[in-house]
Amino acid sequence: MRSLLDLVFPPRCAACRAFLEGHERHLCAACAASIVELSDPRCPRCALPEAPGLCPRCRDKAPAFTRVDAAFLHGGAIADVISRLKYRDTPRLGAVLAELCLPMAREAFAWSSLIAPIPLHPHRLRWRGFNQSQLLAEAIARLLGRRISVRALSRTRHTPPQVGRSGASRLKNVAGAFAARGDLVANSRLLLVDDVMTTGATAHEASLAALNAGAREVRVFCVARAM
Ligand SMILES: [Zn+2]
Ligand SMILES: [Zn+2]
Repeated sequence: MRSLLDLVFPPRCAACRAFLEGHERHLCAACAASIVELSDPRCPRCALPEAPGLCPRCRDKAPAFTRVDAAFLHGGAIADVISRLKYRDTPRLGAVLAELCLPMAREAFAWSSLIAPIPLHPHRLRWRGFNQSQLLAEAIARLLGRRISVRALSRTRHTPPQVGRSGASRLKNVAGAFAARGDLVANSRLLLVDDVMTTGATAHEASLAALNAGAREVRVFCVARAM
């Protein structure tokens, strides 16, 4: 049954804004059909799709994190919802994405002793007004009865966006960009949460900082994995 609020503001699709039918939740049927759950084969280390065994990048140089769990392939309605969350100032979509990817997030969150979002540099945080990774981490953690740490990691260097860069250039761009607090991450099984992973360069650098500060192991959970 629909609530009174739903009658006044009928629920719309989180991706395309179409009005939802009674049985639809968050996404209309067309958008729901466009999302793809990440499935095997994938790289056991970085979750790159269609890689049976370690992918060439992980074989060439192992990332600092030991495993990536990702809910969806980046694309379709998931890409639309993430971009609306990030650029159109609709932070409530964090809760929508959290609900959509909860089944795929459970194991990684259960493994962790500490949960931290990939931080934004204070300049970008001021510009955007919120950190989308923090919203996602908080929303998933809330559904699982967990708390996150927003102080464990910080971004110490302002870096230009990674979009449009090659793998090597992405690594160079974020090298040494993160700091971790030893008093918070020491001996932890740290789960880093991000919205989208592309080459993994950002997650690698953040993981390095955490390991250097004493984290025992770092894994990553992201909503969407780009090819
Ligand atoms: Zn839709
Ligand atoms: Zn890999």
